[in-house]
Amino acid sequence: MLMLKEFVKYYKPHLKLFIIDLVCAFVVSICNLVYPYLAQKILNNINLSNELMLIVYIGIALLGIYILKALFNFIIQYWGHKVGVLIQADMRKKLFNKLEKLPFSYFDNNKTGTIMSRIINDLMEISELAHHGPEDLFLSFITLVGAFILIFTTVNYKLALLVFAVIPFIIIFAVYRRRRMKNASKKMREEVGKINASVESSISGIRVTKAYANDEYEAYKFDKSLVDFKRARMGAYKQMGYFFSGMNFFTDFLYLIALIVGAYFYAKSIDGFDHADYTAYILYITMLINPIRTLTNIFEQIQNGMTGFERYQEILNEKEEDQNENGLIFNGLKNKIKFKNVSFSYQNKDQEREVLSNISFEINKGETTALVGPSGGGKTTICHLLPRFYIQDSGEILFDGVESSKFTLRSLRKNIGLVSQDVFLFSGTIRENILYGNFEANEEEMIEASKKANIHEFVMSLEKGYDTDIGERGVKLSGGQKQRISIARAFLKNPDILILDEATSALDTITEVMIQEAIARLSQGRTVLVVAHRLSTIKNADNILVISPNGIEEQGNHEELLKKDGHYSHLYKAHFELF
Ligand code: ADP
Ligand code: MG
Repeated sequence: MLMLKEFVKYYKPHLKLFIIDLVCAFVVSICNLVYPYLAQKILNNINLSNELMLIVYIGIALLGIYILKALFNFIIQYWGHKVGVLIQADMRKKLFNKLEKLPFSYFDNNKTGTIMSRIINDLMEISELAHHGPEDLFLSFITLVGAFILIFTTVNYKLALLVFAVIPFIIIFAVYRRRRMKNASKKMREEVGKINASVESSISGIRVTKAYANDEYEAYKFDKSLVDFKRARMGAYKQMGYFFSGMNFFTDFLYLIALIVGAYFYAKSIDGFDHADYTAYILYITMLINPIRTLTNIFEQIQNGMTGFERYQEILNEKEEDQNENGLIFNGLKNKIKFKNVSFSYQNKDQEREVLSNISFEINKGETTALVGPSGGGKTTICHLLPRFYIQDSGEILFDGVESSKFTLRSLRKNIGLVSQDVFLFSGTIRENILYGNFEANEEEMIEASKKANIHEFVMSLEKGYDTDIGERGVKLSGGQKQRISIARAFLKNPDILILDEATSALDTITEVMIQEAIARLSQGRTVLVVAHRLSTIKNADNILVISPNGIEEQGNHEELLKKDGHYSHLYKAHFELF
């Protein structure tokens, strides 16, 4: 019920269109009922030969009515769907805006494919329901009620009651059978999915199968899944058989009743039942089949639409990132960033191990702080806490003594630049991707940034220059080129604080030199937090933190740490000396 109330809200902005749609549906269903009614009138009068003109008039009137009906049907199709489309667009917009505001953790725990299917499939079903639901319900209802009233008043009330006593049984049967049919076909789809997965696994592993001479075992496995598949498929067809044969039987049964009971009433001339009544009665009955079919359909549509809507509402109720719109504006660092007893764990369904526990350190303005340590130690996690991609469980992250949550999210993120190992570029041109750092930048500023990032020359060597399309996610570029574009993007953003998370680790030596240069330029005059494996980067850092799963093991500059002869010097000897 609550759901319905939420759902109805979406009609509000399109109420006018929606009402037009319903009115048209009303007129069309009335038009449908005219035919048996007029047939009865003609048959009643046909024995008078001078009434021939009447037949012509009725023909013309009927033609007029049908032309009108065609017009209204067009309106229902076109404008009715428009209501659905508009509601769908509203919902999409709302959903997309919501998604943009959800935190990293949401996207960690929900697959892209699932989210896409929410936006596309679920909303499709909802909009179908939004439009067809009320309209079909209304149209069928009016036709059924109208037919009942007309049979009751103009044909014979006993026969009206008789037929309408049967209809509820048909609907109950159809709804029940349809549900079983749906469940069976769902099961079938699952089995098909399973068998596909099993075939895929067998084929991709066929070399292993051959090497172990296990083809008989594979064939046995396949046979077993075929048994389930056959059972599921046949089960689905059985349900389909029940449904369609049952529905057809009921339809025929309805015709049969009309024919036989009508004939009886006609033969006995009960209540003055004549040939015109008999004809009209049968015509009315044929008119009932469609609305009955539609009604049974609607139950399923409502079910699908409502499940979709439920999932849609679920996303809308997800917790958003706290934008803190009315918070302080962060205008850049004046003194230092301070991590104070920060603990953090990823809110994960299957593991909730603390990744950072009680971490404290400082980053001074204008200095470069390097994080080193084994993979999985939590370096990236630290980087992601600064722009509040994730929120620490306890402790404080202070910018000049102010907790980061006190600032507006936007102002904080505007001032923090992040260049990481896996670069994401949007499909589009190089220009679009660089300008992503600052849409207001002009051509010169963009070229300036590209030069600093060591990418300008490469871009100029391309036929279309900055307007070159880079393909989906930049597939047409090498890793180093993508990285330099991402650095140019960061130059345009011109952040006060810069985070470099293994920005060079995936690159070969020559590209690395170019990128090192670019990064050195980008780092100038900024506060930098760098995660790196390369000695050259680390050596010059003002402060080095050695991070391990146990927390911060050591800190100090290169010389100090070497003298200590602790973790860092071991790491250094084992690792960096080689380069
Ligand atoms: P590093 O960058 O030092 O290699 P990370 O900060 O990426 O380490 O990861 C630290 C730990 O947190 C790892 O054990 C990793 O498995 C876990 N982790 C990283 N990202 C996530 C995530 N999004 N969800 C859950 N666990 C994560
Ligand atoms: Mg990392």
